[in-house]
Amino acid sequence: MSRRSYLSESHPSVRLADLLIRAGAIYSMTENRAIYQALAIRDEWIVAVSQDPHGLDGLISADTRVLDARDLTILPAFEDTHNHLIFAAQNVGLVPVDRAHTLAEFIDLIRQRAAQTPAGAWIQTSAAWHEVNLDEGRLPTAPELDAATREHPVLVRRGGHVVVANSLALTLGGITRETPDPQGGTIMRFPDGTPTGVLIEAPAYASVMALVPAMTPQQMIEGLRLTCQQYNAYGIGTVRDPMVLREQMPIYQALWEQGELTVRSRLMLAPLAATLEERMAIIEGFGFRSGFGDDALKLWGLKFVLDGGAEGGALDEPYVNNPGYRGHLLWTPEELLAMANFAVRRGWKIGTHAIGDRAVRTLLDVYEQVIKENPGFQPGSLVLEHGFLADARQRARAIRLGIPVTVQHPLLYTLGSVLLEGWGTQRTREVMPVRAWIEEGAMISAGTDHPVSSYNPLLALWGMVTRGTLKAGIQGPEYAIDQYTAVQLYTAAGARLNGESHRRGTLQPGRLADLVAFRSDPITCPIDDLPSLRPVFTLVGGRAVYDPEALI
Ligand SMILES: [Zn+2]
Repeated sequence: MSRRSYLSESHPSVRLADLLIRAGAIYSMTENRAIYQALAIRDEWIVAVSQDPHGLDGLISADTRVLDARDLTILPAFEDTHNHLIFAAQNVGLVPVDRAHTLAEFIDLIRQRAAQTPAGAWIQTSAAWHEVNLDEGRLPTAPELDAATREHPVLVRRGGHVVVANSLALTLGGITRETPDPQGGTIMRFPDGTPTGVLIEAPAYASVMALVPAMTPQQMIEGLRLTCQQYNAYGIGTVRDPMVLREQMPIYQALWEQGELTVRSRLMLAPLAATLEERMAIIEGFGFRSGFGDDALKLWGLKFVLDGGAEGGALDEPYVNNPGYRGHLLWTPEELLAMANFAVRRGWKIGTHAIGDRAVRTLLDVYEQVIKENPGFQPGSLVLEHGFLADARQRARAIRLGIPVTVQHPLLYTLGSVLLEGWGTQRTREVMPVRAWIEEGAMISAGTDHPVSSYNPLLALWGMVTRGTLKAGIQGPEYAIDQYTAVQLYTAAGARLNGESHRRGTLQPGRLADLVAFRSDPITCPIDDLPSLRPVFTLVGGRAVYDPEALI
């Protein structure tokens, strides 16, 4: 009390704390697992914490907002280390087919959009959905899409590898029963050879995609703003965006300049081109390298993709539903080594998508070689993204080599039934052995791979704790972790992966005031309450980016 009056009377102009929060539990998520009951913020920073709810009262001045909310639990804001933010942003405004539960609902959403769209104009769906969520469990066909409209070319996008076109779009794209499958792509066909409308991989749909008018920069900036706000409402403070194209950089920069990039973004640029030389030229052309940026927007590094998704992951043993098929490696080890050496020597970090056991082993072979050939190599610069199938031997290698791993339970949640069909029961339960990674000492962090799956961090936490899935039951319960550890992977471990533990990820003085408040404690609440918990407010850099009750 005396300190308080001393400070405020002697230095009336000194700003002590802008905001002082007293809460039931403020989890620091630091190594010592300290839990506080008071936290003070000045500007964007946490300036003090105390285990005594009144321990920081000396920092209160006339200008301090005091929030006395002992029913709240506070965590560091979530850090999703694999979330396609810019891709999600570009789906805002497209037909929201993720809302459909049946193909009939799906077609109806397109029909409704067609009714408001001038004939001849393109209609596109959001890519952020998956057919396993439909009762029918399959993609629509061109004739089914034709039932929604024959007056508009329709492009149904699903994730990053699959497109379905209606008959008009196929015709405009010049795809007929005579069109052969291009190298690296598949035109799905009915038994009589007519295209079904389903086009797999870019070479198959490039001719159709090229006709679709691009969104305007203003639409994309607005989409990014809205998507950041949606993420903030779920307590997300930072994402690592694992696939950003050069032409998307100005969208990020525009929102950053407006001060509206309310999700801190760590970008992974994808040098997409046909040949190695072209890819190298793109990297050279960037000019900058990993680490450029500030707390709001920063370049993490580059993104490479070594194998396919759940239907194309490179496996050692064949797919159970296709005995002649073991998935695809999209690079030869030699190409990947050449690219990785080229990038590492120019100061770039690399995250590589590898999900099948064959891809994970091949990637670790290449990474091991890169580390050998680059003596000044910075640990943590080469990351394994997903690493679905990593047995004890490959895990030990990744740990020995200092290769961090990002895991995304929501992929298993959404794709569990697809994996069961293709990879079989044993391999599906082994997908993302989170508990084994942790017990063996791996550097792992959590995320979602939205829009392939939901961005809801609470659902992801539930998934890591239960190993539960949408339609495939519990998969690999021996790899489940406790609630505290799950939160740790989503906060402190994310900041560590981004190399920013000194700025974020824990609640302690000298860290940015990125935090999220709940009325139930996500660490002690009944497990099945987790998916439906919603934040009360979210602060990013001390600013209330989500605060519907106007508490701050
Ligand atoms: Zn991804």
